[in-house]
Amino acid sequence: MIGHPVAHSLSPAIHNAAFAAAGLDWVYGAFDVAPGDAERAVTAMRVLGLGGLSVTMPHKDGVAGAVDVLSATAQRLGAVNCIAWDGTRLVGHNTDGGGLVDALEVEIGAGIEGRRCLVLGAGGAARSVCLALGAAGAADVAVANRTPARAAIAAELAGAHGRVVMVDDALSVADADVVVNATSVGMAGTDGAGAIPVDVGQLRSGQVVVDLVYHPVETALLAAARAVGAHAVNGVGMLVHQAARQFRLWTGVDAPIAAMTDAANQAISQESEIP
Ligand code: NAP
Repeated sequence: MIGHPVAHSLSPAIHNAAFAAAGLDWVYGAFDVAPGDAERAVTAMRVLGLGGLSVTMPHKDGVAGAVDVLSATAQRLGAVNCIAWDGTRLVGHNTDGGGLVDALEVEIGAGIEGRRCLVLGAGGAARSVCLALGAAGAADVAVANRTPARAAIAAELAGAHGRVVMVDDALSVADADVVVNATSVGMAGTDGAGAIPVDVGQLRSGQVVVDLVYHPVETALLAAARAVGAHAVNGVGMLVHQAARQFRLWTGVDAPIAAMTDAANQAISQESEIP
């Protein structure tokens, strides 16, 4: 993988566990690539003959212009989180949003089709989630963001059912079958750690409440959702399933989800022990 910084990435633990569980003689490593060097890193991939590459911040946009072809999803997003070979061509993919939809299907035991969704946030993760929810047949993808102009771009990606709502729109919260926090609010080590990005009073039982934040695994939002009887889903599922999609693209083999999930949870608990 390439990114900056990458020292605390969970991806090496997840993918190396997957290779071991699948009996594949592959190894996954993290390279800290300076901002602006994405194109040179893609050239290195070609020259070194690497079997695949994960791409994380700040290179997701830069890599999109350096591969030979983009998947339809990566093209719509203008962002790549995975590069795989198709014969002699390098293809840029984006597995983030699809990873969330896969994780939700496992968690709720059914598809997204016909569900009303509220997405909080409009950054890179939110945009990939909006595109995937729209493609999966969500009946409504309402997007609320601190900066409304960015919400319009995310909502448009969801297609005909995408729309912008205000952050304090209580009706949109109560109406939603699925609420997704795709802001960085709640993330450990940030100003928003411990904060909740939505009016908790509007959450209700029967809802699915997802937090893309996975560090900590139990955010204040998820605790509040659980307290009202909602189905709380943390960000580990999306993290694992977006990695599983990458694994399949590189190896052509089904991903060992259980081993990847165990590795992710173990790596997160070890991170939490670091003072
Ligand atoms: P990003 O592009 O930087 O976007 C951040 C989003 O959070 C923006 O919508 C921003 O609003 C909003 N935000 C930040 N601080 C806020 C605050 N104090 N109050 C309200 N809104 C605030 O980040 P990203 O890459 O999309 O990542 C977002 C989160 O998803 C992170 O926690 C990341 O770790 C997580 N994530 C998880 C997975 C997974 O696999 N589970 C994958 C990707 C990302 P403005 O537009 O107004 O600035």
